[in-house]
Amino acid sequence: MAQLIRTFILVFFISALLLGCSSNQVNEDLTTAIPKESSEKLQEKPANTYLNETENTDAVDEHLDSSKVEQSNTEQSGTTNQKIKYYVNRNYFIKPVNPDDPNKVVLLTFDDTPRGENTVRILNILDKYQAKAIFFINGHYAVKNKELVKEIYNRGHIIGNHAWWHENLNYLNEEDTKNEIIKVSDLVEEITGERPKYFRPPNGALAKNPYAKEILANEQMQRMNWSLGSRDWEIVKPELAEKVVEEIKNNVISGSNILMHDIEITANALDKILAFLVEEGYTFVLPTEVIIEN
Ligand SMILES: [Zn+2]
Repeated sequence: MAQLIRTFILVFFISALLLGCSSNQVNEDLTTAIPKESSEKLQEKPANTYLNETENTDAVDEHLDSSKVEQSNTEQSGTTNQKIKYYVNRNYFIKPVNPDDPNKVVLLTFDDTPRGENTVRILNILDKYQAKAIFFINGHYAVKNKELVKEIYNRGHIIGNHAWWHENLNYLNEEDTKNEIIKVSDLVEEITGERPKYFRPPNGALAKNPYAKEILANEQMQRMNWSLGSRDWEIVKPELAEKVVEEIKNNVISGSNILMHDIEITANALDKILAFLVEEGYTFVLPTEVIIEN
């Protein structure tokens, strides 16, 4: 009998050991199966967290001379009497140049675009509300969707640079940094005839890369992070769009610089987000009206 019990215990332990191994294996496989883009997006931190980090505080050093920017904006808009009404402060909030300006405003931005499946849906909803946005494009998407880049531009939005492969710039050498940033600007110029004026570093990270700072200065490109993350990149599932709407409803304030992505959940949520903002009296800042604070 004792022999039987010992055998049973031994079999039990061996089975448990084998099961443990196989479940670990499954986890590993799942981890490696996550597409590069999704795992990168998970690292993109909401602004609330990000604002506490030191990286955001160095941004002010990278700002360009405002007169140069105003001139660039004038050129970009194609008019000679373009008024600069807003600036972006060091925490990436949109502030009116005139402190007595009573308007409630937000800036809409879409990252990791144009991916194609949802881009036109997003564009159509923006048109419905006559809202303009900055689309921060990645080169690897844009090169496959050049006609969409043109479409975004033709509908009056601004094309921003969000790096070619969405690499974290803090870990890149000079050559790779150049490729990440300059190649995107070259591509945008090839498609639209204009080089981007705004740069949003992937994951908001740039502080440890002196080459990136130099390139932004040479390119007269303004760094622009965000002040309100929609968390669409964390919530992700298209059927949970209502959660993204709630995220905006609960956290938006005048001057919010809202980060969204070119993904299905956001396309599902956008109509409700914009309807809410209009109902609450917000207007949408024209990106050409914005400069970075000196
Ligand atoms: Zn991104």
